[in-house]
Amino acid sequence: MSTTEVENYPGFPEGVTGPELMERMRRQALRWGAELYEEDVVSVDFSKRPFEIKSEDRTMRANAIILATGATAKRLRIPSEEKFWSKGISACAICDGASPAFAQKELAVVGGGDSACEEAIYLTKYASKVHLLVRGEEMRASKAMRDRVLDSSDVIVHYNTSVEDAAGNAQGFLESLKLVNTKTNESIPEPLKVAGMFYGIGHTPNTKFLDSQLGTDEDGFIIVSDHDKTSTTVEGVFSAGDVHDKEWRQAITAAGSGCQAAISTERYLQMNKLLKEVKMMDTKDAKEEIEAAKKKEAEAPKKKTHEPAIDADNFDIDRQKHQGQYALRKLYHESPRPLVVMYTSPTCGPCKRLKPMLSTVLDEYEKSIHYVEIDIAKDPEIAESAGIMGTPCVQVFKDKARVAVINGVKMKSEYRKIFSEQLIESSAA
Ligand code: NDP
Repeated sequence: MSTTEVENYPGFPEGVTGPELMERMRRQALRWGAELYEEDVVSVDFSKRPFEIKSEDRTMRANAIILATGATAKRLRIPSEEKFWSKGISACAICDGASPAFAQKELAVVGGGDSACEEAIYLTKYASKVHLLVRGEEMRASKAMRDRVLDSSDVIVHYNTSVEDAAGNAQGFLESLKLVNTKTNESIPEPLKVAGMFYGIGHTPNTKFLDSQLGTDEDGFIIVSDHDKTSTTVEGVFSAGDVHDKEWRQAITAAGSGCQAAISTERYLQMNKLLKEVKMMDTKDAKEEIEAAKKKEAEAPKKKTHEPAIDADNFDIDRQKHQGQYALRKLYHESPRPLVVMYTSPTCGPCKRLKPMLSTVLDEYEKSIHYVEIDIAKDPEIAESAGIMGTPCVQVFKDKARVAVINGVKMKSEYRKIFSEQLIESSAA
């Protein structure tokens, strides 16, 4: 989930952040006996019964499957998009907006729907001004969202405007946008000077790994039955949330869809005499976990202000995983091992996904690789000097030289490959 503040989820009168909601759901699922594997599915085989699901680490068999893979933000595909990707152009204002490179700069958001409006409002926290570039005569966003944008003195809306291309500065970072008037189809002579451009132009469903084994519409969204809104064209395979829902795309509607899919799945398994009962976590264990989580939550605000900064007194170079700028400086200068640095930000949903995945991979290199996590909100000057324009960003250093940069969330194999290459080079040297 990439949304920051979720205001319309029942039961949270003060709102809740996307990452926090995800964490609570995770704990709830575990309590009810779910086994969680945080890894990418690379293929599925719906022709076999039970179905077969493959990740890089395992092959699993299942009598029924619920697909809830969501949707990924679309890109504009302007000519110089790759050149400035993560150097000013981004598809996630929520993940990348906090980057110090955007602080007090003029920024642009493309789109006229709820996503674009939400991004524009969010960016006003950091930017000196936000330009919302709407290709049509009007915004398609809901009235409430439109009004928030129009009421904000920090957002300037440009109607009938689209982006033709981008240009950068001497350091290779985005500096300006070449715009077109969509009514006349003529280029707008004056480039728009912005340090960042964020896309809010809709989403593409994450269905490629299904390899056309079930019915999708022309945009790739899974086709679900009118009857229960979760059954797909393959019996025993169900769908939940944004991977089939083009319209509502709210955390609460996706959660409701997940519940429908779970009930449909249970009925299917029961009818086919395939249902096996999984025991809920022992009540005592569950209670203990809830109590521990509650305690942690209660301590969290205190922890924030009193958390001891890592310094000379508590830094231990023998530990593999560290946090903060002191540890980064020490390891950068003193560690003989390759150093992996992960830049995160507090509101970044993908960072939450990457952390446990990366941690599992790093465990395989416990004695040979050092790791530091940098929160760009806590250590903005470090993020700025590292040229961070989006999170999550993983940088790998060897002998004080930066040897790899991995933006976003990739498969475990990609991190393994880079880490292993560095170790092979170290031992060969
Ligand atoms: P939408 O499809 O609603 O809007 C996409 C916007 O991008 C439109 O304004 C569209 O323009 C524009 N666009 C598409 N392609 C291009 C392009 N190539 N160049 C320029 N502009 C382009 O997507 P959203 O992600 O905004 O919303 C999807 C759904 O999710 C909606 O139902 C929305 O309500 C919901 N949502 C709700 C939120 C909330 O309530 N907090 C937050 C985010 C989403 P045009 O209008 O001209 O087609």
